[in-house]
Amino acid sequence: MSCSNNNKTLLDIKDPNIIFDEDCVKEGTYKGKRCKYIFGKLTYTPTHCVKCGVKNIDFTVYKNGTQLSRITLPITGINPTYILLQKQRFMCQACQSSFTAKTPIVQRNCFISQNVKAQVILKSAEAQLLRSIARDCSVSPATVHRQINQAVKQFIPHYKALPKHLSFDEFKYAKGEMAFEYINAESGDILNILDRRDNLTIKNHFIVNYSLTDRQHVETVTIDMNAGYVSVFPRAKIIIDRFHLVQLINRSMNKCRIQVMNQLRMSNGDDMKKYRRLKRYWKLLLKKRSDLSSVEYKYYPLFGQRTGQSIVDEMLHYDPVLKANYELY
Ligand SMILES: [Zn+2]
Repeated sequence: MSCSNNNKTLLDIKDPNIIFDEDCVKEGTYKGKRCKYIFGKLTYTPTHCVKCGVKNIDFTVYKNGTQLSRITLPITGINPTYILLQKQRFMCQACQSSFTAKTPIVQRNCFISQNVKAQVILKSAEAQLLRSIARDCSVSPATVHRQINQAVKQFIPHYKALPKHLSFDEFKYAKGEMAFEYINAESGDILNILDRRDNLTIKNHFIVNYSLTDRQHVETVTIDMNAGYVSVFPRAKIIIDRFHLVQLINRSMNKCRIQVMNQLRMSNGDDMKKYRRLKRYWKLLLKKRSDLSSVEYKYYPLFGQRTGQSIVDEMLHYDPVLKANYELY
């Protein structure tokens, strides 16, 4: 294999029109960072003019100078790698316009190779930080962002049919922003993700993308507590997700404590003491009783040397509603 071909294999460049000379690799710097430059040439004889379409017979289209491009390649070794590509320029005698040679390694007017873009997409599937993908692929975080967005656009979910068992979930995806996803409850496959989770958006999504027959096919939907949109599945049984149920009960118990606590506030000194205790030891009231020790004495500020269970018992005596709720909880 020639030196040029070896280089191409090493760099995953398949374009036969790119040629490398011997000694084509040089070390240098780019934006203050050490890097590798690979000098290459791109030339060929075009079959026609890309501007007017005239066939290239007897040099209708002739070679006319070159244009140098710096294209980012995937890193070879440890430093960013760039190809400095001398692209052939062509002139058309028929239409008097000029154009530059094309190569599949990079899109027109772009300086980031297709391989780098592919690398960005592959890495983004591994849930890596945007910044570290950018560093590993020697591109800017903005480029990573753009590539991911473009890849997402190509992904068109198929709205063919819904599985018998669906599961809905919500999750945080950016600062305070919540997204909605629906999942095949049996296989765990994510069927689609919506960037909003209000009832109207979700309802419309299902109505627009799936027929009533499709929706009638759904037998169960596992949801969190807040789900007005389930009415679009007329025949489905609704299952409330255990995790969300536990979360809700937890929250209600805590709310009850806060209510009782606030009633005690601003009264006499004894009540203020109770208020402070309920405020400080809220976690103990949410704990499983069997997880609280009845034998191990520790120092609890506002209480003194006590066991976890005795503290809870004392606090429950402050209010009958709190006690009743705790027992139910
Ligand atoms: Zn032309």
